[in-house]
Amino acid sequence: MTRRTIIRGGLVITASDEIHADVLIEGPRIVALAAPGAHDWSADRTIDATGKYVVPGGVDAHTHMELPFGGTSASDTFETGTRAAAWGGTTTIVDFAVQSVGRSLREGLDTWHAKAEGNCAIDYAFHMIVSDVNAETLKEMDLLVEEGVTSFKQFMAYPGVFYSDDGQILRAMQRSAENGGLIMMHAENGIAIDVLVEQALARGETDPRYHGEVRKALLEAEATHRAIRLAQVAGAPLYVVHVSATEAVAELARARDEGLNVFGETCPQYLFLSTDNLAEPGFEGAKYVCSTPLRPKEHQAGLWRALRTNDLQVVSTDHCPFCFTGQKELGRGDFSKIPNGLPGVENRMDLLHQAVVDGHISRRRWIEIACATPARMFGLYPKKGTIAPGADADVVVYDPHAEQVMSAATHHMNVDYSAYEGTHVTGRVETVLSRGELVIDQREYTGHAGHGVFTPRSTCQYLI
Ligand SMILES: [Zn+2]
Repeated sequence: MTRRTIIRGGLVITASDEIHADVLIEGPRIVALAAPGAHDWSADRTIDATGKYVVPGGVDAHTHMELPFGGTSASDTFETGTRAAAWGGTTTIVDFAVQSVGRSLREGLDTWHAKAEGNCAIDYAFHMIVSDVNAETLKEMDLLVEEGVTSFKQFMAYPGVFYSDDGQILRAMQRSAENGGLIMMHAENGIAIDVLVEQALARGETDPRYHGEVRKALLEAEATHRAIRLAQVAGAPLYVVHVSATEAVAELARARDEGLNVFGETCPQYLFLSTDNLAEPGFEGAKYVCSTPLRPKEHQAGLWRALRTNDLQVVSTDHCPFCFTGQKELGRGDFSKIPNGLPGVENRMDLLHQAVVDGHISRRRWIEIACATPARMFGLYPKKGTIAPGADADVVVYDPHAEQVMSAATHHMNVDYSAYEGTHVTGRVETVLSRGELVIDQREYTGHAGHGVFTPRSTCQYLI
């Protein structure tokens, strides 16, 4: 018999509505919403959400579990990382499978399937990092789109690792214009940055803060502009990941005003942290080394404004944790050897709720940028990203009044520090369902590795 669950008495918030409603779940799906009490539904399980929000599970479209980088690997496995995601109210991640240079997309994707399968607490999907554009790779892109891996990431940064030159980028964009794929771009001029890195180190500038100084906002803006024009020439849509500089936002805004299918993502670290953190003494700044880098505080207002005006559409985490001890420390005496990445998959929904409390965004915009738009952008809507009949029952009961202090002592990510240590946040996840099953039950973990399944995606739903 199919299990029925009712979530009673909460304020249901989606990207479009805020309504007091009871939510009926049958098996893995939401089947009905009704005015509170105005029905005679029976259920096996009733969740009282009086005074709470009932929101769609978060969709984090940018994570890197177990990513090999800089001679080490991101410290969260798919098991620990997806469990932490659930604790933070995220019920779907889209992680990045990696093609190694000289190898096929298929081999890279198979490797990532093997890492994730049977280990995830919540559902997952994949983007594909394309590091080696050639005739075979281009053909393989078509096949991946057909099997639900519909987005491809390229890098204008990291020469010798993930880097693609303009010709390789153009070819991949032309292919995606034909097969419906979406190119995601790490937009920083890596060739120029490497020169500035070398010069800084030669001057003896080795501390973490120089990571932020050499990766200049102008070189993010320049690459963003170039990516936009390459996409325009190819007739392809473009999604720029982890936008951190207001100069880059200006490029996106202009392209959108021109009517181009250009989209942008930012991350909580760019909204809540700054170069002040990178400059923390005693090598502490290494905790905040990521690329694109944290920017001076002045950029934050521009990012918030772009989120309100829809010049930026998505907030993902770029979750890529490295422990301070033994991993970030690889870069003592040479900032260029600090593994790039920050933990955050558990913190995103809460930090964005704090943004609601602070008046940066509305409640519906919170759900839009964290759930609905990433689901639409990457072909998961309305299965994911909303609360509606027919949708997967990925639902979070959120207490908007609970107070918490973020800390490595209490978080669930497998990393020895919190980028938000000591940050007071109003609001906290109380209960989480993934396809109708309790993963977090009133602040107790009840999920299990292997519940989460690979979720094939359709193509970007913002294209005509
Ligand atoms: Zn990333």
